[in-house]
Amino acid sequence: MSHRLVYSFEEGDKGQSDLLGGKGANLAEMTRLGIPVPPGFTITTEACKQYLLDREVPLELEIEITKALRNLEDKIQKRLGDKDNPLLVSVRSGAKYSMPGMMETILNVGLNDQSVLGLAKQTNNPRFAWDAYRRLIQMYGKTVLNIDGSIFAKELEKLKISLNLNADHEVPESALKDLVGIYKKIILEETGSEFPQTPREQLDSSIRAVFDSWNTERAKLYRRRERIPDDLGTAVNIGAMVFGNMGSDSGTGVCFTRNPATGASGSYGDYLQNAQGEDVVSGIRNTLTLEDLGQIEPKIFDELHEIMYKLETHYRDMCDIEFTVERGRLWILQTRIGKRTASAAFRIAAQLVDEQIITMDEALLRVNGQQLAQLMFPQFDNKNAPEPITRGIPASPGATVGKAVFDSQRAKEFADRGENIILIRRETNPDDLGGMIASVGILTSRGGKTSHAAVVARGMGKTAICGAEEMNVDEVNHRASVNGIDIFEGDFLSIDGTTGEVFLGAVDAKPSTIVKYLLHGITDATKDQVADDIELIRAVDRLLRHSDRRKKLAVRANADNGEDANIARKFGAQGIGLCRTEHMFLGDRRVLIERVILAKSAEQRESALAALLPLQRADFIKLLEEMDGLPTTIRLLDPPLHEFLPDISDLRVKSALNRERNIVNEEVEALLHSVELMHESNPMLGLRGVRLGLVSPGLYELQVGAIAEAMAELIIRGLNPKVEIMIPLVGSHMELRITRNAAERVIQKIAQENKLDLPIEIGTMIELPRAALTSNRIGPVADFFSFGTNDLTQTTWGFSRDDVEAEFFSRYFELGIFTISPFETIDEFGVGELVRIAAERGRSVNPNLHLGVCGEHGGDPESIHFFHNIGLDYVSCSAFRVPIARLEAGRASIANLNAATTDK
Ligand code: ADP
Ligand code: MG
Ligand code: MG
Repeated sequence: MSHRLVYSFEEGDKGQSDLLGGKGANLAEMTRLGIPVPPGFTITTEACKQYLLDREVPLELEIEITKALRNLEDKIQKRLGDKDNPLLVSVRSGAKYSMPGMMETILNVGLNDQSVLGLAKQTNNPRFAWDAYRRLIQMYGKTVLNIDGSIFAKELEKLKISLNLNADHEVPESALKDLVGIYKKIILEETGSEFPQTPREQLDSSIRAVFDSWNTERAKLYRRRERIPDDLGTAVNIGAMVFGNMGSDSGTGVCFTRNPATGASGSYGDYLQNAQGEDVVSGIRNTLTLEDLGQIEPKIFDELHEIMYKLETHYRDMCDIEFTVERGRLWILQTRIGKRTASAAFRIAAQLVDEQIITMDEALLRVNGQQLAQLMFPQFDNKNAPEPITRGIPASPGATVGKAVFDSQRAKEFADRGENIILIRRETNPDDLGGMIASVGILTSRGGKTSHAAVVARGMGKTAICGAEEMNVDEVNHRASVNGIDIFEGDFLSIDGTTGEVFLGAVDAKPSTIVKYLLHGITDATKDQVADDIELIRAVDRLLRHSDRRKKLAVRANADNGEDANIARKFGAQGIGLCRTEHMFLGDRRVLIERVILAKSAEQRESALAALLPLQRADFIKLLEEMDGLPTTIRLLDPPLHEFLPDISDLRVKSALNRERNIVNEEVEALLHSVELMHESNPMLGLRGVRLGLVSPGLYELQVGAIAEAMAELIIRGLNPKVEIMIPLVGSHMELRITRNAAERVIQKIAQENKLDLPIEIGTMIELPRAALTSNRIGPVADFFSFGTNDLTQTTWGFSRDDVEAEFFSRYFELGIFTISPFETIDEFGVGELVRIAAERGRSVNPNLHLGVCGEHGGDPESIHFFHNIGLDYVSCSAFRVPIARLEAGRASIANLNAATTDK
């Protein structure tokens, strides 16, 4: 296994990010393109892995570094540590996936007490040389020697105050010399050793520090959160330094080939004169815009724009570029595909198509469902929003306004008064559940995307921000403070779970223009909008329509009534995948179902059922009218009957009170008796679904009758209803056979009465492992399978969602047992495997069987790709997620096409 561990920038290319890291691969690519990159070399991720394994730098690596360094020195005619003409280098981390702020960079390596004089002489700029030296000691101290960075920063501050100066670049040479002395003393005091004067020692320790930074706690945490594998390692890039801190004809900047925030075309960036490295992003001085740079250095500005154009057309995407100007000469230090907001992603993708840089298929791969979801949430009106008082980790999206409350009890009291509240906690635990349910939003000062607060909030669809670390939460005294602002109970707060921003006061939220477009069409939505919004709406429209052309999976919606169906259809649903009939028995109708349940004779029962029939029929007529021409799956009653009866403890209290007062209330006693009979210790696994249908004579027949009559009526009215009846919770083919036969008899009867054909499909949910495994026996009896992946997840794992999310999921995330909740993204290996098996076995016995998913996974991007790949026919999700599913279904087929072509 003899492979090289070091490559010069002239050798690699952008395809080698596995080996050279993203930064290294792109430096090599730019070098190849003839873009002015300071020369250098990259130590591979393989070398890092080997180092992390052996805890020492392999000998071959030391040799290769020596050779590469020699080449570099020859190329630019300077030597590391030379007292007259020293070479200085930067030592930079760079993993395959960018991990911003996670790992380290050390600049100006190679300076010591001798070479600083050489640098001063050679550049004729002693102030600059001492500035570079103090920066090296500072960065080296912090990064390599792990000294608290604020110790250095404080000394610099002290110095500036004593000299009455505001900015770093105003500090004169003599003071910088003093500062170097002070910094060296700090190093000696903190570590017991002198700042190393040997450049190679500086270099080697810096390389080791970069390797080690792969395994810092925060880097590990970041990777877990971003799902980046732990075993990739980081490359190290060593490059000749160029200096933006040589005076006002020098500077450093960051630019984007398009605006990464809005997606507006045209370059965008910041520039800082007389500065080095991170100065530009650290906010120490106000930066200039690119236009300002155009005024100061027109030639540099033109050259930069040429390079931007070259990079963007080469990478065929928006690029993010770091550059430095050294005495009127431009150097490019880094590029990568730029991160962008959701709206920028859509706009840029469409622009690149129009500029003939990418195809529509590629454009579709440049956006995703997550981004579309972001665009569909209401947003705070940025123009009118105040500055955020702090930021946290955006844990559950949405824009929410409410009153601050600091404990669950108070939360419930506020909510009972009908007030919207935001629950603020240091972190949450299962005891806070009541408070979380009572709030519209949750804000914590600790924890990340997988903390208890985050997991539960997402499960409940509530806005949440976690880990707002600047905020101090005083739960005892019901207050919080952040950046000098106090928040008391009852104060209005606005939180944006999409950006992580927290605002004081009630900020106006504006409804999403994209939702408006989906509901009312493009003409309506673009009326009276600003140009930016119009461009965004058009981009979304184009990409969604293209996705519809490409997708193989149909997208249906879960909708229980006519109104939801109407919205779902506007959002592009191609049918209803799940209409739950439960709600049809609630509200005013509860008494009717009570009568069914409590009926003492067949007669009583039938009359009670007969009263329900017209109501059910009316519901179905409304739903089927809305969905005219599109398949509509109606599920027969699923939950346990006692859910329709009053609460058992309420009844017990009533009965006891009656007894005390010697009152006889037969109704209460009868109800209590029935409820007690039906009481189950584990209702999720009890008498529900098809079991209920089998033991409650007439119930399913009633529903089937109502469906068939509704269908008949619509056909007579000239409509085209397409009905599918779904039997829930089947575990044995016999359950389905018996239920199906009964249903067919009812349908047949109604068809004959109306002298019509009623071609109703009858199928089943697959939501029990046994159903999946025996699907070759169930398949012949079913016209379709619909995977109820929520219940299938619960029954496969053997846990109930409500209990686990609050109780132990966050711990499971910490332990790495889950990286994502199996209720959010389908567990491919377990639950997904059951789906795959059922699809395969079902189809093998019944080639006409059609297959869909009606659990919430049907709206989850990753799960949709999985369902596409195993060849299902459709996914069904809540109306709001239909556009997201449409987009992801299209992306899944293209991603597949791509895979197919690369295989060949
Ligand atoms: P990050 O990955 O955090 O962006 P970088 O490795 O890009 O870190 O470097 C940090 C800063 O140092 C950047 O502003 C970069 O432009 C600057 N820098 C890196 N190498 C050099 C160099 N050879 N000459 C001048 N500045 C450099
Ligand atoms: Mg960088
Ligand atoms: Mg179910």
